[in-house]
Amino acid sequence: MTTSPTVEEPMALAAARLRTAGMRVTAQRMAMLMAVYESAGHLDADTLRERAQRVTGRLSLQATYNVLRALTDAGLVRCTQIAGHPARYEVERHDNHHHFVCRDCGTIRDVECTVGAAPCMEAQLPEEYDIQEAAVTFWGVCPDCRAAAQPS
Ligand SMILES: [Zn+2]
Ligand SMILES: [Zn+2]
Repeated sequence: MTTSPTVEEPMALAAARLRTAGMRVTAQRMAMLMAVYESAGHLDADTLRERAQRVTGRLSLQATYNVLRALTDAGLVRCTQIAGHPARYEVERHDNHHHFVCRDCGTIRDVECTVGAAPCMEAQLPEEYDIQEAAVTFWGVCPDCRAAAQPS
């Protein structure tokens, strides 16, 4: 593993986060967690793999998925499945936010939890059901695509 001054601090932070989550610290996990934290948005596994590889060297696609699954299971990373898109990963902030997806360009942006706490909405289910979360995808057209579609 090679470390340069620019990655030492985020690496240490990533290692601390792994330990806090009770995970064994490995170079691959640190690199992947850093890649997720350093992105503002919702990245797919391919993009994260490419970024993590700058730190770890070659990472197979299988290793990428294994690491992402472990980080997701540990509650450090949130994985969102959106129909017709590869799974997207972001920092798990436990804020129960939802997503808006643009039908034209595929842009994904966060939509705050409407109520402020999971599961966010009332489900029409008998009270015997323990409802823990609701994942809502709002589909529509983003401002950029709307502007582009306007006749000039
Ligand atoms: Zn769009
Ligand atoms: Zn999100």
